[in-house]
Amino acid sequence: MNLYSLPELPYGYKDLEPHISEEQLRIHHDKHHQAYVNSANAIIQKLDKARKDGADIDVKSTLKELSFHIGGHILHSLFWSNLAPKGKSGEKPGGVLGDAIEREFGSFDRFRKEFTQAAVSVEGSGWAALTFCRQTNRPMIMQIEKHNINVYPAFRILMVLDVWEHAYYLDYKNERAKFVDAFWNIVNWNEVNKRAEE
Ligand code: MN
Repeated sequence: MNLYSLPELPYGYKDLEPHISEEQLRIHHDKHHQAYVNSANAIIQKLDKARKDGADIDVKSTLKELSFHIGGHILHSLFWSNLAPKGKSGEKPGGVLGDAIEREFGSFDRFRKEFTQAAVSVEGSGWAALTFCRQTNRPMIMQIEKHNINVYPAFRILMVLDVWEHAYYLDYKNERAKFVDAFWNIVNWNEVNKRAEE
């Protein structure tokens, strides 16, 4: 039976310090992300069993719950790999991505400002995402509510930032803007560039 599994981090738990502490990263990865994986798997197993037994299920609520946990799993997996220890990821986006950001936003600084504002202003729990529309060849910043990935099939997700409180509360308490500011030190531009090139 194919089920979801928690990916290992591509760096050590201490490697994103001081921007994300070891304790914060451990809880976020080992507890929160793991919980989405476990819940998605439990729901799939419940669906399998109900189909086998011919039992009735509440399709609407089950599928809603399933997409929430799968969304959490996919977004966290993207998030871990678009982070890297400071000094191991390049200062700014280059190549195809650098050109696209320059064309769309006028400058990297303008892009950074708009993405920061998107992240800081997410209502409640959610994400900021840099996406790329393959129909218009334009990068676009989007907000994601909870884990509801309202990114369309023609869009590719290049970079995400988790702004749920569980992502930063141990390190920054209620100061989300400080966490968003710290995020810019640990973006893995090599990975984000690679996603743009694909
Ligand atoms: Mn999270």
